[in-house]
Amino acid sequence: MQVDPMTYRDLDPGQRILMGPGPSNVPSRVLQAMASPCIGHLDPYFLEIMDETQELLRFLFQTENSLTISVSGTGSSGMETCLVNLVEPGDKVLVCVNGVFGTRMCDIVTRIGGQLIRVDAPWGRAIDPDDVRRATKDKGASLIAVVHAETSTGACSPVADISKVAREVGALFLVDVVTSLGGMEVSLDSMGIDAAYGGTQKCISCPPGLSPVSFSPRAMEKLNGRKTPVPSWYLDMTMVSSYWGPERKYHHTAPINMIYAFREALRIIAEEGLEERWARHRLNHGALVSGLEAMGLEMLVPEDQRLPMLSAVLIPEGCDDLAARRALLERFGIEIGGGLGDLAGRIWRIGLMGHSCRPENVFIFLSALESILRAQGVKIREGGLQAASRVYDEASEYRG
Ligand SMILES: *Cc1c(COP(=O)(O)O)cnc(C)c1O
Repeated sequence: MQVDPMTYRDLDPGQRILMGPGPSNVPSRVLQAMASPCIGHLDPYFLEIMDETQELLRFLFQTENSLTISVSGTGSSGMETCLVNLVEPGDKVLVCVNGVFGTRMCDIVTRIGGQLIRVDAPWGRAIDPDDVRRATKDKGASLIAVVHAETSTGACSPVADISKVAREVGALFLVDVVTSLGGMEVSLDSMGIDAAYGGTQKCISCPPGLSPVSFSPRAMEKLNGRKTPVPSWYLDMTMVSSYWGPERKYHHTAPINMIYAFREALRIIAEEGLEERWARHRLNHGALVSGLEAMGLEMLVPEDQRLPMLSAVLIPEGCDDLAARRALLERFGIEIGGGLGDLAGRIWRIGLMGHSCRPENVFIFLSALESILRAQGVKIREGGLQAASRVYDEASEYRG
């Protein structure tokens, strides 16, 4: 087959304001780090960079776990890594489901021969720890899995309370922190989390391509005591960890430049401070929601269960979902997410994640949305921007 190279233009994606469910905007420092020379995956300089990345990652996860690494793949590869390493055929695995990502975990558990026990909550609501307790009392479980921040709905589940249930029944506790990590508190050790996986492109604001994963000593015990080999060669943590550990044993070629980028994104987080970063996410979320509600829009999730980094708002009556999202992108360069599954056409998912989580984005989005809805003839109230402004005025750190 022949191609004419002249047909293919220079790459020029243009700028976007990424306010969807991920990826978020990437700071230029991270992109610059990524453009550094590619060196060997066993080069002494690169091995130092790996060590530093692990240290920074332990800080982000708030853990002492020695197995704390990044899996070479997106968030879903971290999900698969945790499950293939910690579940053996026949193990009872309780998965909490209140959105798309819970169902994805169920799919993997079934594929690897785990005995699936599902605890459901309506989409847009948190998981109720009492439902988990009841299900484990009835059926037992060797592993309990939950999605902390359900990006498909904007609901936040009470991880610390579900962790207590896991301890009561002696189950390992696995948490999906893909969207929460870097945007709200995820403290593995104090929350009693045995295994967690994240993604780089949400509140960490690094391009997609790596999945930070951490296993507690209890999780390591389960892994080392397996009767059957880990069913995935690529994701087998006993082998991957001997590359990240002192042996430096080649397993697969690390994605060198992605790890540069990840380390830079983690450095930026350490410079800002975790508490400060979580507070910034809460503040901008508060302003966005005040603006939307002042315009007369309604949120999907009850206030005490809402995520700070992902807000699901009901699409107002008379609005053309696809046309509105297309106008946001084409006229204002803003990307937001639509609904998934039963929520398709019913909600928008507005992300304020990591580097994208800033007051100017809240104001640009609210004014863009207002003009689009008015052009579509949708009835909305005045005062969205003023309501958002008031939230910033009331927060002392933003007082001029
Ligand atoms: C995005 C996301 C994933 C999947 O991550 P990918 O990088 O798309 O593979 C898993 N869980 C949650 C909660 C997510 O938001």
